[in-house]
Order: sequence, then C-alpha cells, then structure tokens
Amino acid sequence: MTKVKADARIDGARRLVVKIGSALLVDEATGTLHRRWLESLAEDVAAARRRGTEVILVSSGAIAVGRRHLSLPAGKLKLEEKQAAAATGQIRLAHAYQETLAHHGISVAQVLLTLDDTEERRRHLNARGTLATLLRLGVVPVINENDTVATAEIRFGDNDRLAARVAAMISADTLVLLSDIDGLYTADPRRDPAATLVREVRSLTPEIEAMAGAAPPGYSSGGMVTKLAAARVAMAAGCRMAIADGRHLHPLESLRDGGLCTWFLPAGEPLTLRKAWIAGSLGPEGSLGVDDGAVAALKAGKSLLPAGVVTVAGNFDRGDAVRVLDGKGREVARGLSAYSAADAAAIKGHKSREIEALLGYRGRDEMIHRDDLVLL
Ligand code: GLU
Repeated sequence: MTKVKADARIDGARRLVVKIGSALLVDEATGTLHRRWLESLAEDVAAARRRGTEVILVSSGAIAVGRRHLSLPAGKLKLEEKQAAAATGQIRLAHAYQETLAHHGISVAQVLLTLDDTEERRRHLNARGTLATLLRLGVVPVINENDTVATAEIRFGDNDRLAARVAAMISADTLVLLSDIDGLYTADPRRDPAATLVREVRSLTPEIEAMAGAAPPGYSSGGMVTKLAAARVAMAAGCRMAIADGRHLHPLESLRDGGLCTWFLPAGEPLTLRKAWIAGSLGPEGSLGVDDGAVAALKAGKSLLPAGVVTVAGNFDRGDAVRVLDGKGREVARGLSAYSAADAAAIKGHKSREIEALLGYRGRDEMIHRDDLVLL
C-alpha cells in the first residue's frame, strides 16, 4: 500500500482555525444539520489534537438552521429576521458541536463576536485572553458572529473574514476555509472550461484579485471576493490559509492527505500581536497618500514622516488605523496615525521640526511610527 505523505501545512499546524460554511453543515431545504458530516469533522478535529494541534472552529449555519425552525419565508430575510433566526439557530448549532465533540472527550465553548470586539483594542485583548485560556484548558472554541446584536455597520457579514480576524487575533499559523469550491480558479470555472485551479498564492497581486471576479450585487456573504479579503488579513498576520472543498466526509484529513486546494502563503512568521492587530483592522477610517520616497523608506523599515505625506483623506483620530496609499492609490501599508486627520492635513509635506509651530504643540516626529506600521 502506498502511503501518501501528509501535507506538513496541516500536519505541522500549531494553531489551526477552521471555518465551516453553512452549506456544508445545514440542509438548506429542511434546516437540519448534516450529522454524518459533522461527526466526520469531529473525528478530524480529534485527530488534529492528537497530533498536538490546537483547533478553533468558526462555524456558520445559525441563520440557516433558525430560519426553518421559525418557519421564516424563503428568500432574502430582513436584518431583524436574520437576527431572530440566528438567535434560535445558534443554540442548536452549539448543541450539535457540543454533542458531537463530546464523543471524543472534547469540551467546546461558544464564543460570539462582532467586528467591534476584534477592532477595539481593549475588547480585542479581552477576546484574545479568553480564547487563549480556553485553548490552554484543552477546549475547542466554536465561534460565530454575534448576529443578534450586530447591526449593519458593526457586522462582519461573512464568516470568512471573521475567521481570518480570529486567526490574526490569536496568532494562529494555519487557517482553513471549508467551502463548496476547491480553491481559487484562474477564471470562473462555471463559465470558462479553460479555468484551472491555482495551487499556491504567495502575494495578492492585482491578477490574483481579478481571478475572484466582482462580487455579485447585494451579495455580502461568502464568495471568492470575501475569501481573498480573508486571505489578505491572514497573510498580513503571517498565517497561511487554504480554501478547500469541504463537501465530502473528513474534510481536514483529506486536506492533510494532499487533497486539492489553494494555499495562500505569507512571506513571514505570525506577526507580533500588536502588528497582527494593526494589519487585520478591517475598517480603517482614513488614508494617507504618500510620495515615492516615503514608500521606499517604509519598505526599508523606516517610519512614515509628515514630509512624505501628500494627501490626507477621511475622518480619523489620533491612534486610529489608517491606510497608507502610494501615488497610484494602492495600499502599501497600514498603521496607527499619531495625528488626527485635521492635524495630519496641517503638517503634511512639512519637516518634523515644524510641527510645533504648525499645531501649537510638540507631537511625535513621525506620522506613523514604524512600530505601529505593517507593510502589506
Ligand atoms: N453568522 C451567520 C450564521 O451563522 C453566517 C455568516 C456566513 O456564513 O458567512 O448563519
């Protein structure tokens, strides 16, 4: 018998986040859970833990389960109907995970998060502390968005990005998005027979972004566009990410056995926690446009000085995350601005020693200090 060599990216994972899409877990027509599939996933989770891998699950499905249970109509639900459905479905979902993993002697913990919990530093640290404690105690956290309290503005809206954010938050080294497609294709395989699967991505170039196509209008959840957004967050945090087809039984073990997927591989190791938090901030309020000299300086590991800033856009306060854009409008870095938008506009293009005269106080010499800056 020939034994396939285990894929080290799964086999050697230290901390693994697995995102489970609704369609894998829930029968859309009846709203019931695919029990056999869930059991096979639980077996895979148990196997990973025996190899010394910590496992965190990010599971969708609360709305799909709850909407049938509440007999809500087919078609698009209103936000408050989705929230009601999630509130009902989440109990059933959590219960199913608890029951299934208990067969392997594994305890689960339910963690519901909103975008704010991962964006706001104090709450971020709290959530991270709780997850670290659960992992230390040998528990498998089962995470979902806190749909009942999340309004349109503070929603992730899709668990792909939530999973990436969680992976960055807890410095995971591996993230697997289990979905109904086996990875990123060079074109839409449903329309283009010549489309091929991309096995490895090391940088999210404009060509790669173009492969995902545009998001269908009004479509916020799932899709390749949100998966690439997740990849961007994960890679910037030094976490590798796979998109894999999870529709068959034992989805993780088959990936370990070399199953088809797309791997997104970061250049470096997981970032320091502070930098991971900055890189993963999903909703920077503003941006700083910088000149070529500043781009070169940032790439050489230097701080961003006011002199290199050409434009200031958006409304942000001191300490907020902002995007740093090059002359072509491409995001080259992300960091915490030492100045508010108004003050940044007043000192842009100026030497640091002029700051006091311009603002009436002596702030930091740097617009973004290199410790607060992450190259993308
Ligand atoms: N939080 C939603 C749910 O549990 C799912 C969001 C998603 O699938 O991306 O139903």
